[in-house]
Amino acid sequence: MSTLMSNYAPLPVSFVKAKGAWLSDEQDKAYLDAVSGIAVCNLGHSHPAISSAICEQAKKLLHTSNLYNIKNQQALADKLMQISDMEKAFFCNSGAEANEAAIKLARLYGHQKGLKCPTIIVAEGSFHGRTLATLSATGNPKIRAGFAPLVEGFVRVPYNDIDAILNIASQNSEVVAVLVEPVQGEGGVVIPSDDYLTKLRSICDQHQWLLMLDEIQTGIGRTGKWFAYQHLDMIPDVLTLAKALGNGIPIGACLARGEAANVFQPGTHGSTFGGNPLACKTALAVIETIELENLLPRVNQLNNIFIEGFIAALNGIKGVRDIRTKGLMIGIELDQPCGELVSQALEQGLLINVTAANVIRLLPPFIITDAEANKIVLTVSDLIKNFFDAI
Ligand SMILES: *Cc1c(COP(=O)(O)O)cnc(C)c1O
Repeated sequence: MSTLMSNYAPLPVSFVKAKGAWLSDEQDKAYLDAVSGIAVCNLGHSHPAISSAICEQAKKLLHTSNLYNIKNQQALADKLMQISDMEKAFFCNSGAEANEAAIKLARLYGHQKGLKCPTIIVAEGSFHGRTLATLSATGNPKIRAGFAPLVEGFVRVPYNDIDAILNIASQNSEVVAVLVEPVQGEGGVVIPSDDYLTKLRSICDQHQWLLMLDEIQTGIGRTGKWFAYQHLDMIPDVLTLAKALGNGIPIGACLARGEAANVFQPGTHGSTFGGNPLACKTALAVIETIELENLLPRVNQLNNIFIEGFIAALNGIKGVRDIRTKGLMIGIELDQPCGELVSQALEQGLLINVTAANVIRLLPPFIITDAEANKIVLTVSDLIKNFFDAI
């Protein structure tokens, strides 16, 4: 009997070590990683620059608490401001916590304006985390099921639907913010129209709402820019990060600019571990390594290999509904549930993910070679062909 709670149903494999884009299990079988621990290990595994940043810092200082100045935290915040157009940072330990910070910030912002019930607009199909507030904000009803009473103060609209937002703007005077993902990851790699976020930006400006982007999955280069919003001509007020920020060391961040940057005052929010010297040193090394190795252009190059490869290989297969990509976020939507592909891929030594029941999601690390990218395309395409042949 396992002494672990049953909230996960793990695949029958455990990895013991990894290097680059390859992991090995207890029998020393090798697996090519096209998931990156769900968009976390963007620099692959055991990257020398990251491993040595962790080791060096571990020998010096792990933790002091936020009762004292943390120099690494300041250095990481400075660096994040350089790459993000934001002005201030709060550090925490996960994505859900980053969104909790954003939600609390929006509520304080609303109360400062004299609103009684500050309300945040969120989208259907969204994923914002598993804490009570973030699951209440999340679109997927399965994630909310069983956890009533939920946190109040959210209204939900269809994603990529500007009219729905305008409709709420005309009815609800308690709205203080909009919280959306620039690309819905867990929701199935759903990419909104090019003008969705720019239009949202102008609606938010008009009503003095905060535009809060959850870039926990899309951030830190995943879409080929530091942040997905940088593909567009707009800047959010609040930006939440986690996942790849620490390449596997837990760290989250809530960044803000303008009025939003000054909402939190001493005592309004905090975290014991948040922004500790180790996590911040690691995140700093992550950003510097992406710069040093010029990996953002590489993400775009690799995107081409995947698009061209999959279009060529999957052409004419009727069950393939759509191929969606933004940088190294890749979604292949089939016309039926395809969860079994995950274990079939595992048998062949490839890690993939299926989300929203029928979308194969690939989130490979930025450091894969062309040959490894082609191997992923070939293996996944063959799995899809066999899947439909078997029906
Ligand atoms: C993963 C994810 C989260 C939650 O992050 P945790 O670290 O698991 O709490 C929130 N939002 C998005 C978009 C995510 O992909």
